[in-house]
This record gives sequence, C-alpha cells and structure tokens, in this order.
Amino acid sequence: MRISGECLCGAVHYAGEADPVFQVKCYCTDCRKTSAAGHAAMIGFPAGTIPVTGDVKEFHSKADSGLAVTRAFCPCCGSGIYSRNAAMPHLIFLRASTLDDPGLFAPQMAVYASRAPAWDPVSEGVPAFAESPPRP
Ligand SMILES: [Zn+2]
Ligand SMILES: [Zn+2]
Repeated sequence: MRISGECLCGAVHYAGEADPVFQVKCYCTDCRKTSAAGHAAMIGFPAGTIPVTGDVKEFHSKADSGLAVTRAFCPCCGSGIYSRNAAMPHLIFLRASTLDDPGLFAPQMAVYASRAPAWDPVSEGVPAFAESPPRP
C-alpha cells in the first residue's frame, strides 16, 4: 500500500510503498505516556521501506520485556513518528496517528490490554493480549 504521513508541524514526514507486516495497539504504560492517549497505534513496515525525512529526536528506554525500545519524535512539535523494538529489529513502527489517511490503520491485535484505562477501552473484535504479545 502507498502510505504517507507527517508530524503536526510538518517538519518530519514519510512516504513510501510497502505492505504493513504488523499492526498493533499497545496499551503499555510507556506508550500511553508518549501517545497522550490510552494507547499507541502502530503500523509496522520492513525497515527501510518507508523513508522518514526531517530531523527527529530519539528517546531510548527499556520495555517491560527488558528489550531496548527507541521512540522518535519531532523536536519541534513533539509528535511521535516511529518506534523501533530490539525484539523486531527488521521493522519500523510508524505511529498511525501521523498517517495522512489514518483509515489505513487496521489493528490486528491489542497488547498490554490489561492496562487499558476505562476511558480508552480495547476495541471489540480485536484480539487482545493481557500483557506482552507472542513474537510475530
Ligand atoms: Zn513536527
Ligand atoms: Zn507499548
């Protein structure tokens, strides 16, 4: 599929053509804090297929799994752009919130669903895992 997106201020954008390999809503505490919502919506593509242009700032942390996670955001407007997970180094997870057409995002699963706040419940019909998902 052809996808494109950009941050709130437009300094960072991405575009390319690739099929998503993993689409997930993550309700972990870190994703909640960085998404400014109850979960982060992430659409994963093979690394390198969707070039990101513009300067991003990266934040490095350890996931509950113990693995390193990198989250990139626009240093100007703060929009989250993508994340990388050491468990899946061949993938880049773009934030579905920055898609030009957010309707392209079709979540396959919800993870850390046990942490979903009452005001952002897990969608009906999406397989939900209480904690960490099985590795794709
Ligand atoms: Zn920006
Ligand atoms: Zn998460």
